[in-house]
Amino acid sequence: MVEIYQRLLSAYGPQGWWPGESRFEVMVGAILTQATAWRNVERAIERLKAAGALSPEKLASLSEEELAELVRPAGFFRQKTRRLRALLRLIRQHGDVEGLLSLPAGELRRKLLALPGIGPETADSILLYAAGYPVFVVDAYTKRILHRLGLLPDEKAGYEEVQELFEKELPRDPKLYGEYHALLVRHAKDHCRTRPRCPGCPLAPVCKSFKGQGDF
Ligand code: SF4
Repeated sequence: MVEIYQRLLSAYGPQGWWPGESRFEVMVGAILTQATAWRNVERAIERLKAAGALSPEKLASLSEEELAELVRPAGFFRQKTRRLRALLRLIRQHGDVEGLLSLPAGELRRKLLALPGIGPETADSILLYAAGYPVFVVDAYTKRILHRLGLLPDEKAGYEEVQELFEKELPRDPKLYGEYHALLVRHAKDHCRTRPRCPGCPLAPVCKSFKGQGDF
């Protein structure tokens, strides 16, 4: 796992994740990015900022319709509106963003997973990038890359199983985890796409699926 990280970092450089000016913005982004491209999230965040609504208090003062309209560019905007409002209620139960994010990691994760539409990937993105806990974020790109490298027998392996592969081998360092996840996303977009572009791939020397022509 360490060698893969070093190869990706050498090839792509630091990715500067997670984009966001505040911990609250990171949390909002983690929900808005579900099932959509990041550029759509950026458009929604820009609209929230332009409306002066990117704080828990301001967001909570909006009606469901007003909030839905602002986050519409992120897609699935009615579902995401309900998820954001559930997150706002959880924040309010703990006083403020800092109160919520200062919960122990296990408790915070359980509370986030209990919210509608928040799965392990979104919860762990919040734990890692907003709260700074050393929790490795797994997504479909992670599974695809590991499977092709020959490190994951089944691409449909469970979330926690894949997470453990990273967490048992890497130092528990949130900066490392954050960078590693971002690099895997970058790699899945640049080389290890649905139809992989193997020539020039920085992981080719350690990849069991390497094909010179990228012809799967
Ligand atoms: S060599 Fe091909 S299959 Fe292997 S990681 Fe690179 S792009 Fe993916």
